[in-house]
Amino acid sequence: MKSSRKTKQKEIIEKELLSMNSFFNADDLFRVIRKKDNAIGIATIYRFLKKKSGDGELHSYICAGKKLYSIGKRNHSHFICKKCGKTSHFNIEEISAIRNSIKGDICHFQLDVYGICEYCKKNRFNIDKS
Ligand SMILES: [Zn+2]
Ligand SMILES: [Zn+2]
Ligand SMILES: [Zn+2]
Repeated sequence: MKSSRKTKQKEIIEKELLSMNSFFNADDLFRVIRKKDNAIGIATIYRFLKKKSGDGELHSYICAGKKLYSIGKRNHSHFICKKCGKTSHFNIEEISAIRNSIKGDICHFQLDVYGICEYCKKNRFNIDKS
C-alpha cells in the first residue's frame, strides 16, 4: 500500500517536471505539484530533484543562494556588481575558450563574474564619497 502510493507520487512529480521550462527551483515545482496532490511535501521534492541531478537527468546551478535546475543542458551565468550587489544574467554561446582549458567533456557550466555595473560606474563619484 505504502509503496504504491509512493510510486503514484513519483509519477505525478515526473509528469509535472516535464511542464517546467527553462530554469526552476524546488519551490516552483512544489507549487505545481501541490495543485495535483497536496499530500506531497517539499522534502519529497528536494529528494526527487537531488536524485535526478545525481543521475544526470537534471542539470543544477546555484542562483541567489538557491539550487536551480534545468531539464535541458543550459549554461547559467551571473554578472554580480561588487558595489550594489545587483546580479544580472547573461548567456554565453561561444565556449571554445572554456572547452580548450578543460580536459574532458563539458556537460554544463555556471559562471559568476564580478565587477562594477553600469549604474554604479556612472554614479562612481557619489558612491565613493559616502
Ligand atoms: Zn549538466
Ligand atoms: Zn541565476
Ligand atoms: Zn552596481
